[in-house]
Amino acid sequence: MPELPDVAMYKKILDGTSLHKTIEKISFSDSRILKGVSVRKFSHILKGNRFARSLQHGKNLLVQVSGGSPHVLLHFGMTGALHFLERDEDEPAYTRCVFTIAGGGRLAVADQRLLGRIGIVEDLWSFVCEKGLGPHAIGKELHAERFVQILSGRKGMIKTALMNQSVIAGIGNIYADEILYQASIHPESDVRNLDSKTLRDLHDVMQRVLRAAIAKDADSEKFPKDFLLPNRRSGATCPRCKGRVERIRVNGRGTYLCPRCQKRQ
Ligand SMILES: [Zn+2]
Repeated sequence: MPELPDVAMYKKILDGTSLHKTIEKISFSDSRILKGVSVRKFSHILKGNRFARSLQHGKNLLVQVSGGSPHVLLHFGMTGALHFLERDEDEPAYTRCVFTIAGGGRLAVADQRLLGRIGIVEDLWSFVCEKGLGPHAIGKELHAERFVQILSGRKGMIKTALMNQSVIAGIGNIYADEILYQASIHPESDVRNLDSKTLRDLHDVMQRVLRAAIAKDADSEKFPKDFLLPNRRSGATCPRCKGRVERIRVNGRGTYLCPRCQKRQ
């Protein structure tokens, strides 16, 4: 499932290929991915205009359209991805929407399970409020003090809190495991047992993990050697203590950890 670093990579693709260029055509091979707006209206908003700038909030990519204030919302659900295709390149499997960009390239949104969505957002602040999104996990507004404040006194497991988009926006199952592994915190630890020093350190680790993943284009094969992610399977060797990686379930989600490095608190 695309999480903050994956969406950051899609933003990089869009910015590097399609920003400030005229959108010549919009086509849907499956318009079920478009939510809350008709194909006709969506095409009318975009056609002949340009993508003026993009920004990311959690797992959402919002792209402002020139000539007005609306933003195109891209949310990648469980299986969504954004690709840039050169003139002759074939569309990937499960392509649902294609933006043809001046010069011949195309931006393709593929989504096998169709749990992602494309839409129009008129006002960014209202969108964040309506969706009840917490602050962007690596945004300036989520400094260490705010992070401690948000989590202090919360009930329940730390992994569940990190993945709750209304607490912090952007972290899903995979990066929650990585962050907790790097912070040596057991995912089932009760948030109330983590003191403010531990939470401050966790904030630091969260920034470091997400930024490192973005720097490597969210490609786990390029991740630092001490990351859990390339060893995300039961029985794999913990890159730190050489113990065994274990799989448990936390809130129904497959969770990987090193029980020797991550003590329950
Ligand atoms: Zn270990």
